[in-house]
Amino acid sequence: MMTSLTQSLCLCNSQLSYADCCEKLHLGSTQATSPEQLMRSRYVAYALNNASYVYQTYAQEKQAENPITEIADFAGSCRFSNLNVISSEHDSNTGIVEFCASYFYQNLYCQLHEKSRFIKEDGLWRYLDGEIFPTTDIKVARNDECPCGSGKKYKKCHSN
Ligand SMILES: [Zn+2]
Ligand SMILES: [Zn+2]
Repeated sequence: MMTSLTQSLCLCNSQLSYADCCEKLHLGSTQATSPEQLMRSRYVAYALNNASYVYQTYAQEKQAENPITEIADFAGSCRFSNLNVISSEHDSNTGIVEFCASYFYQNLYCQLHEKSRFIKEDGLWRYLDGEIFPTTDIKVARNDECPCGSGKKYKKCHSN
């Protein structure tokens, strides 16, 4: 399982293998060099339910209000399907990344469209907070085409 995951394409949509992309950040063998890289690795950590990584990459002042158990509950109840980075910019100590993350929750297809703020703490990029744009959840039936874009029926794709 871990071997095939390492060799497969990274879930952040970089077109790199997981081993050459977010895995290095998850293992702590390298640190994010930009807010976008950190955001991508946080998305993949949600998708893999690596709640401790999500927790650790919050800014220190936000960690208490985002306990690992809540992160794990959310991540475990969702099936993440896509990440689209819309824009990113940063200077030496702050950055902004706008993205849209798609996931399934029960039989709903949901999108998180957010403009996130990042800061550097002790030389490391951390997620501070974000502005969330309104989106509409889509109810999916078993025989519908899966909204993830695979072309398969939902029941043969992202259905739980
Ligand atoms: Zn990645
Ligand atoms: Zn699907």
